[in-house]
Amino acid sequence: MTGIPGVGKTTLLSKIVEVIKSHDKSVNVLSFGTLMFEIAKENGLKDRDGLRKLPLKEQQSLQKIVAEKIAATNEQIVIIDTHAFINSPEGYYPGLPEHVLKIIKPTNFVSISAKPEEIYNRRMKDNTRNRDNITLINIKKELEYQTGMISACAVITGSPVRYILNDEGKVDEAVDKIITSIGL
Ligand code: ATP
Ligand code: MG
Repeated sequence: MTGIPGVGKTTLLSKIVEVIKSHDKSVNVLSFGTLMFEIAKENGLKDRDGLRKLPLKEQQSLQKIVAEKIAATNEQIVIIDTHAFINSPEGYYPGLPEHVLKIIKPTNFVSISAKPEEIYNRRMKDNTRNRDNITLINIKKELEYQTGMISACAVITGSPVRYILNDEGKVDEAVDKIITSIGL
């Protein structure tokens, strides 16, 4: 499950988990960034938003460790809450580079989107995060890159991408679409 910050991935996933559990299936939702941060914290990183500013070599090595942890899980359904790219100081860096995809072998990609104005408002409301330079122009550019990055993932893995619009106030509709479209 990918999408730029503020599209609503974590919100949708918390509902999706309830639905899957009600169907008596075992499910594990893992936040790629949280797993990376847990390891980086042991090495002294204080701020979750500092992850994307680490030297790329360090980010790559953290990604690999986390991918291997994910590959070792054995629930019936494993959903990864992640970003198709990371806003690093050097530019857009893939959240799912080829070396990670080869380890976790995703069967489906879900690309969450929303109207740029809604994403803007959701980010502005969330003051638990240390976000930089929020503008509508940047959000629109990020949405374009999201499409490109996730298309590359589909080509590398041979797995399909389902695009879902998470409209304002319509969490349940988006959840239904995800559940039915990937047969959960
Ligand atoms: P991040 O990548 O930063 O973790 P995210 O994609 O997980 O972001 P959320 O934290 O789930 O995004 O959502 C961001 C904010 O938008 C939250 O305040 C959430 O309540 C709100 N939100 C999510 N979906 C909707 C929706 N359909 N309508 C209204 N508000 C929403
Ligand atoms: Mg989230």
